[in-house]
Amino acid sequence: MSKDWKTRTTLVHEGSRRSQYGEMAEAIFLTQGFVYPTAESAEARFVKTGEDEFIYARYGNPTTRMFEERIAALEGTEDAFATASGMAAVNGALVSMLRAGDHVVSARALFGSCLYILEEILGRYGVEVTFVDGADLDQWRAAVRPGVTKAVFFESMSNPTLELVDIRGVAEIAHAAGALVIVDNVFSTPIFSRAVDLGADVVVYSTTKHIDGQGRALGGVVCASRDFTRKVLEPYMKHTGGSMSPFTAWIMLNGMATLDLRCRAMADSALKVASALQGDTRLGRVIFPGLVDHPQHDLAMAQMGSGGTMVAFEVKGGKDAAFRVLNALEIIKISNNLGDAKSIATHPATTTHQRLPEEQKAALGITPGLIRLSVGLEDAGDLIADLQQALAQA
Ligand SMILES: *Cc1c(COP(=O)(O)O)cnc(C)c1O
Repeated sequence: MSKDWKTRTTLVHEGSRRSQYGEMAEAIFLTQGFVYPTAESAEARFVKTGEDEFIYARYGNPTTRMFEERIAALEGTEDAFATASGMAAVNGALVSMLRAGDHVVSARALFGSCLYILEEILGRYGVEVTFVDGADLDQWRAAVRPGVTKAVFFESMSNPTLELVDIRGVAEIAHAAGALVIVDNVFSTPIFSRAVDLGADVVVYSTTKHIDGQGRALGGVVCASRDFTRKVLEPYMKHTGGSMSPFTAWIMLNGMATLDLRCRAMADSALKVASALQGDTRLGRVIFPGLVDHPQHDLAMAQMGSGGTMVAFEVKGGKDAAFRVLNALEIIKISNNLGDAKSIATHPATTTHQRLPEEQKAALGITPGLIRLSVGLEDAGDLIADLQQALAQA
């Protein structure tokens, strides 16, 4: 990982390990366990597992290890641990390090299942959570309790209204209080992420999103220091069963090879789509941090160097009008994944965020007319034409 490789080289080659056959493609080691040449070597391995030595797939596997090394090199962390899903990664990062009596400060605008962990689960085990408006540094400052707050948690770009959290600002506040900074970085993508440079200690991804990028498999990963990964997280993950399968790791390794190309192509198209939608009289807000007049445009450029791959817009006429637009789309699919090669439109108020009480939806800007668009790899002109014909029909 000390190699001087640029991103695209890292994404194709980092972490590769070959068997005695010298296979070109990364091998899928579909094995639950490993055979020891002697009883003594089995004993030795259980005492201390060395580099490239494995015991059981729940603890680690050569294919999974290749993926972990590749994503850690990309993210700029010493190590990474791959998990069965994004939620296993979020849960593992938090629960592995927290204990009764600890305090956590979290942004309020969270992916539904993240909110469930912070709001419902942690409290049962005596961890207190304070929720703040993620974009307001004063609220973070007021909420942290030096020595008691052990972690802060937030999504660097929120779902679905694409509000950014100032990673550097929050990290300064958190570190001054002695708290670890745990960032769910899905919407920022691993390509546009500068989270570690900006002060994040632990970066979590759902690899189901851009890393797979083709809607095939659930997965997750936690990127962190070697100490956090191996001494805090790994013991929790390996004993509680949330590890990534070797087959999934192989899918994610292949996704990594094209990740830079895909994220950049999607982000270019997202800017074109957002620019085409902006000013349309049939729409209210068009939200894309890459647009110059977005209130957090400067922060987006400093933090990501890009507006990302997601666009949100509000159709005038509320839910009925939004549904008419969705139902008239021909290329863009109605679903709830994101970061996929296929462009996907979501109606957050009735699907991903349905569970939230109306006041909370309103507070988060999840209005009845709001549509979230994950821009895929299709031709940008075709996507714009699809949106325009759908708006015209609605
Ligand atoms: C999808 C997602 C998750 C959960 O990931 P899974 O792979 O579905 O478990 C967590 N956080 C964010 C921001 C997500 O978009």
